[in-house]
Amino acid sequence: MARYARAVRTEIVVIGGGIIGCAAAAMLATRGARVTLVEGVAIGAGASGRNLGAIQHPFDPELAPLYRESLTRYRALVDATGEFSVGDAPAGLLLLNRSEEAAAEQVLRQRDAVPELDARLIAPDELARIEPSLAPGFTAIRLETGFPVPPASATGAWAALAHERGVVIEIGQAAQPTIENGAAVGVELADGTRIAADAVLVAAGPWTPKLVDPTGGWSPIHPTWGVTVQLRLDGAAPAHIVEEDEVDAINRSDAATARAAAAAGDEPPTLFSLASAGGLSTLGSTFLPYEPEPAATVALLLRRGAEFLPAIGQAEVVERRMCARPQSVDGRPFIGRAPGVDGLFVCAGHGPWGISTGPASAAIVARAILDGTPPPPALDAGRPVPTEPSPG
Ligand SMILES: Cc1cc2nc3c(=O)[nH]c(=O)nc-3n(C[C@H](O)[C@H](O)[C@H](O)COP(=O)(O)OP(=O)(O)OC[C@H]3O[C@@H](n4cnc5c(N)ncnc54)[C@H](O)[C@@H]3O)c2cc1C
Repeated sequence: MARYARAVRTEIVVIGGGIIGCAAAAMLATRGARVTLVEGVAIGAGASGRNLGAIQHPFDPELAPLYRESLTRYRALVDATGEFSVGDAPAGLLLLNRSEEAAAEQVLRQRDAVPELDARLIAPDELARIEPSLAPGFTAIRLETGFPVPPASATGAWAALAHERGVVIEIGQAAQPTIENGAAVGVELADGTRIAADAVLVAAGPWTPKLVDPTGGWSPIHPTWGVTVQLRLDGAAPAHIVEEDEVDAINRSDAATARAAAAAGDEPPTLFSLASAGGLSTLGSTFLPYEPEPAATVALLLRRGAEFLPAIGQAEVVERRMCARPQSVDGRPFIGRAPGVDGLFVCAGHGPWGISTGPASAAIVARAILDGTPPPPALDAGRPVPTEPSPG
């Protein structure tokens, strides 16, 4: 508690123009702070502009409130900017399984673990009626979550709101926090320009640890590379968000196994997922600890995708994308005061859930900076860092 007691900051630099940095900048400025946002490449240059575009429940009781709050904040953002839309009710998430038996077990697990998602078994004939473009033979689990949005839209809208609220947005130069006598006093840009500040927020996704601690001593977030393909599916685009029923397993697939597969020339593991919004569908994805070869990975995604939705085989490819998820060691973001440095704050490590939970996380870090309010202990950036990712 004491670590947060004397935080009163009005002049703030935010590093990173992803969903977190843009949302936090907008919220800080709305509260009256003078804010500069520094983005090295472009707004949404990382995962925040290249994700699947699904706002959905994160299957973690610590993160579920962040999802619900983020949804409320998105609705307010839509009202304020009109930049995109979020459905009144979820489109629904369909987990596809070839085995009726495995699907029946999964429904029971989901009902037990996340009752609010109202898990329901959808037999192959019903599935054929509600999503006729899917390949036959799947049993699905329908979960009451999933709001598809164009992948870059939410981040763009937060950036627009930040601009409207007076945030100065500097694009094109990497920034590094300047630390003097154990306190953050601003940032230095790649060309040597210094910007002074009372507080610095590092929201640089997977690049966050090296900005917070260039010695490598604090390193709880690492990149997990994802390839996606944007497609025009027209009438064959499912209304639901659809995924292969394996998301949790691959999400936690261990780096050693993936590297071994790559070294052996085997195909990298992929997980079929598809979300459609704004006339385009985004097909995913990989969860790899290394940057995969994009062309081969795209071909693999299209081939595997067509097994689930045959129209993918003939669809127009609009764009191929690769970016890194900021995956934390325990699957939860690190939010709040960076360990050991006064005035240095962090908000990163959202892994596969940054679009779904990012705005609420940004609100937590904004309160930590402006009011000295500590984040929930399970999300506190000062919590002990496990050395190995938690199993299951
Ligand atoms: C393939 C894929 C699909 C996904 N799908 C979903 C989904 O459907 N739903 C969901 O909730 N989440 C999804 N995610 C996860 C989500 O996209 C991320 O969790 C989220 O975008 C992370 O946001 P961020 O702001 O922390 O980081 P980023 O988006 O990585 O933004 C960090 C920014 O910081 C900038 N930067 C880095 N270093 C510096 C520096 N030194 N100076 C200045 N700028 C710097 C980068 O250029 C970047 O723009 C997906 C991720 C991937 C990869």
